Amino acid sequence: MSGHGGSSNGRVAPAAFPPPVDSRKEFIKRGLDSEDELIEVGVAIIGGGTAGLACANRLLQLLADDPETMERLGEVPVAVVEKAKTCGGHNLSGAVMRPGPLEELFPELTRQQWRELGFAYGEVKKEAVYLTPTAKRSLRIPTPPSFKNHGNEVISVSALARYQQQQAEEAGAYILTETAATQLVVENGNVVGVRSGDKGRGKDGQPLGNFEPGTDIKAQATVLAEGCWGHLTGAAIKEFGLADGREPQVWELGVKEVWKVPKPLDRLIHTMGPWPLKISPKYGQIGGTWLYPMKNEKTGEDLVSIGFVVELEYADATTSAHDLLQTFKTHPLVRKILDGGERVAWGAKALPGGGYWSMPKLTMPGALLVGDAGGMVDTMALKGVHHCIKSGMLAAETIYAALKRGESNFDSYQDVIDQSSVGKELWEVRNARQPLQKGLLLGGMLSGIQQITKGKLPGRADWHRNDAKGMFIGDTKDIYPKPDGKYTFDKLSSVFITGNATRDDAPNHIRVQKHVPREIAETWKWMCPAGVYEIPEDAPEHGDVDVIVNYTNCVQCGAITAKGGRLTVPEGGDGPLYQIT
Ligand SMILES: Cc1cc2nc3c(=O)[nH]c(=O)nc-3n(C[C@H](O)[C@H](O)[C@H](O)COP(=O)(O)OP(=O)(O)OC[C@H]3O[C@@H](n4cnc5c(N)ncnc54)[C@H](O)[C@@H]3O)c2cc1C
Ligand code: SF4
Repeated sequence: MSGHGGSSNGRVAPAAFPPPVDSRKEFIKRGLDSEDELIEVGVAIIGGGTAGLACANRLLQLLADDPETMERLGEVPVAVVEKAKTCGGHNLSGAVMRPGPLEELFPELTRQQWRELGFAYGEVKKEAVYLTPTAKRSLRIPTPPSFKNHGNEVISVSALARYQQQQAEEAGAYILTETAATQLVVENGNVVGVRSGDKGRGKDGQPLGNFEPGTDIKAQATVLAEGCWGHLTGAAIKEFGLADGREPQVWELGVKEVWKVPKPLDRLIHTMGPWPLKISPKYGQIGGTWLYPMKNEKTGEDLVSIGFVVELEYADATTSAHDLLQTFKTHPLVRKILDGGERVAWGAKALPGGGYWSMPKLTMPGALLVGDAGGMVDTMALKGVHHCIKSGMLAAETIYAALKRGESNFDSYQDVIDQSSVGKELWEVRNARQPLQKGLLLGGMLSGIQQITKGKLPGRADWHRNDAKGMFIGDTKDIYPKPDGKYTFDKLSSVFITGNATRDDAPNHIRVQKHVPREIAETWKWMCPAGVYEIPEDAPEHGDVDVIVNYTNCVQCGAITAKGGRLTVPEGGDGPLYQIT
């Protein structure tokens, strides 16, 4: 055991080794550059994912009928800043979507047209939920209410973002792809825009031959749509005390593959374990899986989306969502679906799991939060896409109404969200998630009661951050299959098929302490789906070790932020280029 201390049960908690970051100092810029050195836009939307692009599209719909307000927003009324090569490049979800908000955003499109446009893959007509007591057995159970998906649509958020980008551009949005927003600009207590990151710096931060400095982007309104607790969102939460009086955010990590299969899957499947997880309080693993049928209307191909989600609350350092997914694929229930098929995509992403009580305040002077940046996911049902779209639309409507009146106060957005389908749905499951920190058996029972009663039992429980959990080096790793490169895969060949294009000499965007107890290093090594963290072979078995950080493999899933490190934004354009995740 290291002498650094840790948690009360003698294990070592990642929180005892915080990342070297001072987000208010580093990620908030005090004041804008002079007028001739900046870009001025009307509304700056940071993040071109589902939520940010829904906001852009709704705003442009409203402005299309109101040339006067459009004029007031200047030459670039709506700008979207996206760090991926193209919108969709960094987006990943299951995804089975509740269709309402997307139908509302694009009322002229039918669901059949969604499929022909290539972002939707069919309506859910049949579904089944299984327990997997062992590596061989499965037991079908009645579908719990939170898993009912009849009538929902299977989509790809990556493809949806590409479609939304095209729509927004046609309507007049200025979409800055390959551009990372690295600082929130605050002047006199108001958010007045963001600063984009430098490009062309070397490993040690030195400017290279192709160096281009970043630019201040001044905006009348700034929308933070960065997804799962983003870089600027985190700084804004600290700067404006947005998490005061809320529960801490907790996280889950999902790893997903898309398979081309010879035979269509005829139903949507969820499994709830316990295999391959260890659900005893000692290991604390909670998670589940999905298998969603996808029919590609353009090519006629039958595809299957398969994924494993694990809560980042576990205690065994050798827990790996990537390897658990590979293990899950060896179950006969899955094997018969994927056999004879071919893996065509892989990816990983974290999601905020805390729900209602963990949502930060959604507004601050000059800016507001939408989608996952605001924690708007119902993780009991694994549903966030429809909330992202709805919150993006409501943010657009709030901003439009305020700017039309010549005001810049967006505070009403908080109430608007609370009264909307987003607030109402998240309120109903507000107390369903915390009990799970008590372990699957007791927690699962309490959670079920809270779901049936829609949270009416005394509920709001204190809960702790994932990085406060003490870690030990257990034996979960012993069940992971040896990758065969055909059906089961290692991490690096998986990263390869994401089209990850991070420059080898880019500066390191991962902040972690590099000399830590082995328990912490092992946690990072196993958790990271992209194989970023390595422990030297000659490192001591016990005590502190040096961690090697292969940051150019990073797929920006965000999980490290939950377990003792910090993902910051790399240079724009770096990272994966997801297509159908
Ligand atoms: C494994 C998994 C499975 C899921 N399954 C489902 C499901 O089946 N159904 C469902 O409804 N929901 C599901 N969800 C939840 C759902 O996917 C999310 O709620 C939703 O996709 C989030 O959308 P978003 O636009 O808020 O964020 P994101 O999709 O994360 O988009 C944020 C964008 O902002 C960009 N960005 C971030 N920071 C910056 C910056 N500083 N500068 C520039 N660009 C930046 C990112 O590159 C990204 O493109 C799932 C989530 C996961 C992770
Ligand atoms: S290094 Fe990148 S891919 Fe690995 S856990 Fe951290 S954010 Fe995810």
